[in-house]
Amino acid sequence: MKNILIILFTVLLFQTLSYADTIILQPGWNMFSLPSTTSASSIKSQCGTTNNLWHYNTTLEKYESSDTIEPGYGYWLKLSSPCSILYSTITSIYPDLKVGWNQIGALSTVSFNSIKGSCNVLNGPWKYNPSTGKYEFNNIIEPGYGYWIKVANDCKLEFKNCIDYLYNGDPSDKLDLLFIPDNYVNLSKFENDLDLISKTLLSYEPFKSNSRKINIRWINKSANYGCDTYNCYIYEYVGYVCTDNSYTDLLFDCPADKVFIIINQTFKGGCTFLGGRDAWVSSSAKLTATIHELGHSFGRLFDEYTAYAYDSTDQPTSIINCDTSSCSKWSGVAGTGCYKGCYYQNWYRPSASCMMNKADTFFCPICDRRIRNLLDQYS
Ligand SMILES: [Zn+2]
Repeated sequence: MKNILIILFTVLLFQTLSYADTIILQPGWNMFSLPSTTSASSIKSQCGTTNNLWHYNTTLEKYESSDTIEPGYGYWLKLSSPCSILYSTITSIYPDLKVGWNQIGALSTVSFNSIKGSCNVLNGPWKYNPSTGKYEFNNIIEPGYGYWIKVANDCKLEFKNCIDYLYNGDPSDKLDLLFIPDNYVNLSKFENDLDLISKTLLSYEPFKSNSRKINIRWINKSANYGCDTYNCYIYEYVGYVCTDNSYTDLLFDCPADKVFIIINQTFKGGCTFLGGRDAWVSSSAKLTATIHELGHSFGRLFDEYTAYAYDSTDQPTSIINCDTSSCSKWSGVAGTGCYKGCYYQNWYRPSASCMMNKADTFFCPICDRRIRNLLDQYS
């Protein structure tokens, strides 16, 4: 019985991205923030200015000069030449907001909707563009920038790693799927990818008619775990797709039965292993790739395409959707046949096409039945 399973789709170029840890201030007025406590004098000396830093005091409704830059707040600084400031993220606790306009700073790249907590937001977030001298609305807030937010009441912003995309009930009764972004500088791209992937998953049977049994969550944090489906390599149930597997720490506050690490890359691939928790899927793979991988990780189904152009010396005894030439495992099941080639060329599959074959059609009757039986355990 094979316990190593590698599923690649198509080979294309791949690329890696890294994260800026520098904010560049422009000549003129800048509205900026830093994600860690820093003295104003150190910023002024780095930027060669004696100008004051100004922060808007929401309660007093006026600007005050600041000696210290506090994380989570936005500040004005006027410069005569460009200036680079290095920063590092050390906190994820946002300050409380007061009723009215608040000048805030971002602590990490997040969707503002995901951190607004109980705040009734009347206006914003607005970012100041020093090049145009104009404010720009942007729902994704990024470290280094300051933003205006108007709220109707005193309230708290809450940074949460774990965001519901689809909530149908208590995790103990549901199939909990968790999507983790890797290598996304732009989280709004991830939100868009997640939306397309999830809608595709929920439109395919048997997940479609069982969608009330599924919760979908995502991690609201940009990170680079060094994942690459070009390296889709799994050995003894451990994936070596990422250079940094610290994403598993995220599972402490985000319940998950099955995890998808969505890797922002142009190389098209995906992999997981039978019954595994984690699957790795390229953002540029087919939208059905996650469904195919879920067939492996959740359904413990084998690939029905011929991965190897040679015969296996093993018998597919414990494999649900592959059989010997007798195809006795599914004899009498409507819609099934006996087609040569199921991972190995001397094994047989139940259907000419299946999600576990080319990942672009429906599950064959045997794979469909298997997943329905598993979904019956959820309510
Ligand atoms: Zn199948």
